[in-house]
Amino acid sequence: MNLHYDLFVIGGGSGGVRASRMAAATGAKVGIAESYRWGGTCVIRGCVPKKLFSYASHFGEELHDAAGYGWSLGGSPSFNWKKLMAAKDAEIDRLERVYEHSVLIPAGVEVHHGMAKLTGPNTIDLDGQTITADKILIAVGGHPTRLPIPGAELAMTSNELFELQDFPEKLLVYGSGYIAVEFAGIMNGLGADVTLAFRADKMLRGFDEDLRDHLTQQMENKGITVMPYTTLKALGGQAGAVDVAWQQHGEDLPSQVFDQVLMATGRRPNTHNLGLEELGVALSSHGAIEVDQHFETSVPGIYALGDVIDRVQLTPVALGEAMAFVDTHFKGRPRRMDYSNIATAVFSDPNVGTIGLSEEEARAQGYDIAVYRSTGRAMKHVLPDRNEKMLMKLIVCRESDRVLGLHFIGPDAGEVVQGFAVAMKMGATKADFDATVGIHPTAAEELVTMRAPVAS
Ligand code: NDP
Repeated sequence: MNLHYDLFVIGGGSGGVRASRMAAATGAKVGIAESYRWGGTCVIRGCVPKKLFSYASHFGEELHDAAGYGWSLGGSPSFNWKKLMAAKDAEIDRLERVYEHSVLIPAGVEVHHGMAKLTGPNTIDLDGQTITADKILIAVGGHPTRLPIPGAELAMTSNELFELQDFPEKLLVYGSGYIAVEFAGIMNGLGADVTLAFRADKMLRGFDEDLRDHLTQQMENKGITVMPYTTLKALGGQAGAVDVAWQQHGEDLPSQVFDQVLMATGRRPNTHNLGLEELGVALSSHGAIEVDQHFETSVPGIYALGDVIDRVQLTPVALGEAMAFVDTHFKGRPRRMDYSNIATAVFSDPNVGTIGLSEEEARAQGYDIAVYRSTGRAMKHVLPDRNEKMLMKLIVCRESDRVLGLHFIGPDAGEVVQGFAVAMKMGATKADFDATVGIHPTAAEELVTMRAPVAS
């Protein structure tokens, strides 16, 4: 029996689930296929387990700091990786069931478990079953990559780290993007001896320079060894004792043995084995599906969104793209996704939150700017005498007074920056910030009380 849908979605991650349930709510007949687990990268091996690990990691410091507030905990607190893994797995299992049974099925979406492959502009093969659809949406996400060096298979990617059985006491994290910086902080906080090595001069390419420097200093203060200008030549030995041959500044370093190596060197779109090449769906040189402003590929009727189109690899962006897709194609309200001023957080230790332009980007774009900057210790850290400094920075356009960039390093930076993102999206000016009464005592109040620019 052939099944026919108005919309068939391939991929049950953030973008695919959102698009299918919102389209089904318009009365469309919608089916979705997932070959692995409902929830996709974010829920199964990305944002959600990472955030759980990040919470776990911070308890180490919190337990220590509690003494500064008069608590005696007795004995020395210890951490059990297997217990954290089991708790994480139970929560991910729960969320996966929620996605399927409390989100998709009640929304009227027909769910299919299996590997879908396009066989025509309106036809899919799902493990031998033929499915037809007026529109097909590809939301299959991406996967982490390893560098093409000898022995690369000995390294973990973030996928394997989420399944790791034994806690690595000595860990090399290679890369300096979101994943590398986050896991370096998490694993250090959980008690590992962490080295963070990368090829660039600084971590977090593209972020504000000040922020990059400040975060490096804070991470080093917490005991992470940071190695810029470092390249990996080869990995040897075995998992559990990986021998790393590497160079810094182009010179060989003595090789070192690590319990594990995490390669966090970027992600690639999952465009293989989908039948895309056979159908002539255009791909970028990076392997991403190319789409127009309404997410249509080069083949009419076939659409794509989320990490597989590799615009901005963030869950909320995939959700936003899915909403724009449904508005355009199922609600008769065509609109584009707005990619401006996307707030983002790096769950490093300490956390980073940022919106808008870095100081360098603002200058490069020709803005005449005033820079407001403040550093200091969070009040919470004073009694335990924790040597951790926050950074707050605003980039303001002198001509329009608009706040072009906001950067925050400190506890719960993502929570702090989320609210400011609304103001910035609305075009808030520095005068608006100045007219806002702070909430005292908080860390974030500093963002509305910085009066004198430090640079222009
Ligand atoms: P990123 O693109 O953020 O970083 C990739 C890292 O790999 C960079 O440090 C890059 O170095 C390095 N790299 C790439 N190629 C090579 C190479 N050939 N040799 C040496 N180093 C190399 O990727 P991630 O894997 O960290 O994360 C993927 C995406 O997932 C992110 O872009 C982000 O959008 C998303 N994400 C978001 C999170 C959040 O919102 N908190 C958390 C985790 C992931 P260089 O800088 O020198 O180019």
